[in-house]
Amino acid sequence: MASGGHGCVSDPYEASVVPLWQTSTFCFEDPTHAPEYDYTRSGNPTRTALEHQLVALEGCRGSLSFVTGMAAVSTAVGLVPAGGLVVAGLDIYGGTSRYLDRVLPELGVESANVDLSDAAAVAAALDGARAAGRPAMLLLESPTNPRLDVLDLRSLAALAKARGALVAVDGSVMTPAVQRPLELGADVAIYSATKHLSGHSDVTAGVLSANDDEILRKLAFRRNAQGTALPPFECWLFLRGLKTLELRLARAGDNADAIARLLDAHPLVRSVRYPGLESHPNHDVQMAQTLALAGEKTRGGTLVSFTTGDVRLSRAVVMALERFSCAVSFGGTGSYASLPCYMSHASIPKEIREARGLPDDLVRISPGIENTQDLLDDLTRAFDIAAKQIQEEDEKAKEAEKQQRVA
Ligand SMILES: *Cc1c(COP(=O)(O)O)cnc(C)c1O
Repeated sequence: MASGGHGCVSDPYEASVVPLWQTSTFCFEDPTHAPEYDYTRSGNPTRTALEHQLVALEGCRGSLSFVTGMAAVSTAVGLVPAGGLVVAGLDIYGGTSRYLDRVLPELGVESANVDLSDAAAVAAALDGARAAGRPAMLLLESPTNPRLDVLDLRSLAALAKARGALVAVDGSVMTPAVQRPLELGADVAIYSATKHLSGHSDVTAGVLSANDDEILRKLAFRRNAQGTALPPFECWLFLRGLKTLELRLARAGDNADAIARLLDAHPLVRSVRYPGLESHPNHDVQMAQTLALAGEKTRGGTLVSFTTGDVRLSRAVVMALERFSCAVSFGGTGSYASLPCYMSHASIPKEIREARGLPDDLVRISPGIENTQDLLDDLTRAFDIAAKQIQEEDEKAKEAEKQQRVA
C-alpha cells in the first residue's frame, strides 16, 4: 500500500504528515485472523510512526513510548526482579527517588543511593549484590538535576557490566540528539519526553530505547500488560514536537550558555552550575560524551543552576522574573525558573536533600527558545529588584527591632 512519506505505516491518501489514528480499537476483516492493529493499548499506527523516528534519532534497535517519563522509569527499573538491587546516585530526579524509596521495597527490590563520582563505592555496592547472587541495576542520570553534576557514563557503564549489572541511563536532560547512552554502554536509555523531546510543555510522555531484543521484548510486554503506552493524540503531538528538536535545542543551548556566563559574572551569585562552563569540574567529561549535532552550545545541556547564599534572595529573584515562568519541568519553548527544594524535589526529605548537597537557595533555570538578550535583560533586572527588596526588608526589620528596644 502507499505510504505517504512516513514509510513505516501505510496511508492510502499519502498525507504528508503522519495522520492521527485517534481510535481505541480496529476492525477485524476475518475474526479468526488478527489484523496488524487490533487495539490501541497494544498498537496504533501513529505510535508506530513515532517510535520509528525515535529509533532513527537514537540510532538503536527499538524504542517504546510511554504515558509519562515515570512510566518509562518504573518499567525500566522493573527489569530488576524481586530480591534485586538498584544502585542510583545521590542527586536523582524527585519522582524517581520517590519510586525507589517508597514503591520498590513493596516489590521486594532494594535500592541504594551511592555517590556515583566515587567509583570504588559503586563497585563495592555492585560487588556486594553479585556476591549475594542478587540481580542489580545501575541507574544513572547525567547531568544530574538540579545539581548538574556530570558522570562519566562510559566508565560507570563498563564498571557495572563487568559485575553483571544492567545499566539504565535517564538522559532526559540531554536527549539522544546530544547524548546517546546506548553508545556509551547502557542497556536501556530512559527519557521523559515531557521535556525536550516533545518540547512544548503540552504533553506528558516517556521513552525507553534499547538494542537487546530480549530486553526490548520484556519492556514491550510489560508496557502492554500494564497499559502504559502513549495514547495516539499524544504520539501525534510528540511527532510534531520532534520536527523542531534540533532547532529548539540549538536556541535553548545558546540561551543556557549566555545565561550561565551572565550569572557567573554576577556579584550576587555565589556559585553557578552549567556543564558547558569551562570551570565546571567535569566539563571535559561532558564534552567527551556528547555530540554537537544540534550545535556546539547544546553540549552543555540547557539547564543552569545557581545559588545566592540566601534563600530570600533566590526567592525574590525568581518572583521578579517576567520572562521566566515559575514552574517545575524544563525543555519547553518557554523559560522556567524554580526553587527545586520547594518544588520538583520537595518530595525528598530535607535531611536527605541537605546530605545530597541540595541547598534551599538553589535556583534552577531552564531557558526556552526566546530571544537571548530578552532573557539576559530580564535576569539582570530581576536581580536588581530582588536586591533592593531584600535591602528594604532588612532595613525595616532593623528599624522594628530598634523601636522595640526603645519601648
Ligand atoms: C521529568 C523527569 C522524569 C519524569 O518524567 P515525567 O514525564 O514527569 O513522568 C524522569 N527523569 C527526569 C530526569 C526528569 O527530568
